[in-house]
Amino acid sequence: MKYIGSMIVCLSMCVLFSAGFIHADEESDARMALYKKTSAITDIPWEYLAAIDQYERQVHDDPKDGRVTAIEADPMFWTGSAGEMPSTFFPDGWGLDGNGDQKVQLENDEDVLYSIGTYMKSYGTTKDDIKIALWNYYKRDLTVQTIMNTARVFKKFETVNLTNRDFPLPLQANYSYRSTWGDARGFGGRRVHEGTDIFANYGVPVKSTTYGVVEMKGWNKFGGWRIGIRDIYNIYHYYAHLHSFSEDIKVGDIVQPGDVIGSVGASGYGPPGTSGKFPPHLHYGMYQDNGKNEWSFDPYPFLRKWERMTKN
Ligand SMILES: [Zn+2]
Repeated sequence: MKYIGSMIVCLSMCVLFSAGFIHADEESDARMALYKKTSAITDIPWEYLAAIDQYERQVHDDPKDGRVTAIEADPMFWTGSAGEMPSTFFPDGWGLDGNGDQKVQLENDEDVLYSIGTYMKSYGTTKDDIKIALWNYYKRDLTVQTIMNTARVFKKFETVNLTNRDFPLPLQANYSYRSTWGDARGFGGRRVHEGTDIFANYGVPVKSTTYGVVEMKGWNKFGGWRIGIRDIYNIYHYYAHLHSFSEDIKVGDIVQPGDVIGSVGASGYGPPGTSGKFPPHLHYGMYQDNGKNEWSFDPYPFLRKWERMTKN
């Protein structure tokens, strides 16, 4: 038995190494060092700088070669369009030299972070000030909300390295699912199936798969009682047809993988309270936002992966 035990330890360690978790640690250390340094010289709490960078990682994909952050300042904004920027802070545009090399470079992490931090500070350093600064920079409500929420998640867990995940149902429950993303659905006109159905009994607990913030909770005629959670990667996780919600869960709550958010049911396909029009199951959907568009993608391979991760 002992031998088997150490085999399992070895296997899971090997999985950790090969999955890049060690690398992820080093990467997040480098990111944190930059955020904290910029925070010290601009008074903007590090988690907001981190959340802006995290958001831009979904807009521009990952950081370019040789860079630690993915923030790409709009060149028009960078050189300063007259009248838009507080001129006392940025008489010649808003770019500033953050690393002391006497140059202001769009592709330099320290210059970009210092400039953004200084720009934000020109509005003040309270939560509301930061929200206004973000709105004037991005001019999009969902973007501002996502960055503010991501900052809260980073602050709560005191790290940007939040790679842990969970399967939405307890593994010991009786459940089954298969890949049905894109299948036709009849109710409410012609639609395609934007998610994976996990069939299980009424009342089986439903857990958050990820770190994030509850963005939506309530009734929808297709999804019934449903909860939407947006994670730090700007992915919206949609849990539908619930039988019940966890008693204390509400919009704005921070969740982590494994937090119980409700239970499996068969609600939906009608006015509030409609239930039992199909066998009980969790409908689980994933939607990516990139700052311009939102689109659905197939959760099935992720569910399989998280199920394996949870088993180990
Ligand atoms: Zn479904």
